[in-house]
Amino acid sequence: MRLEFHGLPSADVDNIHRTGRDSYGDPVERHASAEEGGMPCRHCLQNVPAGQPYLALAHRPFKTRNPFTETGPIYICDPGCTQAEPSSEPPAFLDAPHYILRGYSADERIVYGTGAVTPRVDLTVYAAHLLERPDIAFVDLRSASNNCFLCRIYRAS
Ligand SMILES: [Zn+2]
Repeated sequence: MRLEFHGLPSADVDNIHRTGRDSYGDPVERHASAEEGGMPCRHCLQNVPAGQPYLALAHRPFKTRNPFTETGPIYICDPGCTQAEPSSEPPAFLDAPHYILRGYSADERIVYGTGAVTPRVDLTVYAAHLLERPDIAFVDLRSASNNCFLCRIYRAS
């Protein structure tokens, strides 16, 4: 099982930059400078460089709406950046000891029993295990401490 880690689609990120609105319809927060750096951009899957501007906003990283398509905080580069190439490796900014992995069906509903706080060193093994199942279309990787969406994992095409 080969995996692909994906950043947010450019169409979605372009829409955020164009409208200045988040998934609630509220104005995005514009921060003049990432003083310390370390804010992970969900589009280029790199940390916003120290001293560079960025956006903080509530985002729902799903195409549809149902009770499981939660909205939460993300950062993205400002001005825009280039979407990360799909990678077989997790983003380099992942430096916490644990993350949440959770499987979703093709209709963007949580597949119960798949959500697990997972040691960073086991992310690819557990994601591959979940994506072996035909009822799982993708796996979301989230912060274990803050639950923020970080990236999405698919079967490599
Ligand atoms: Zn970026």
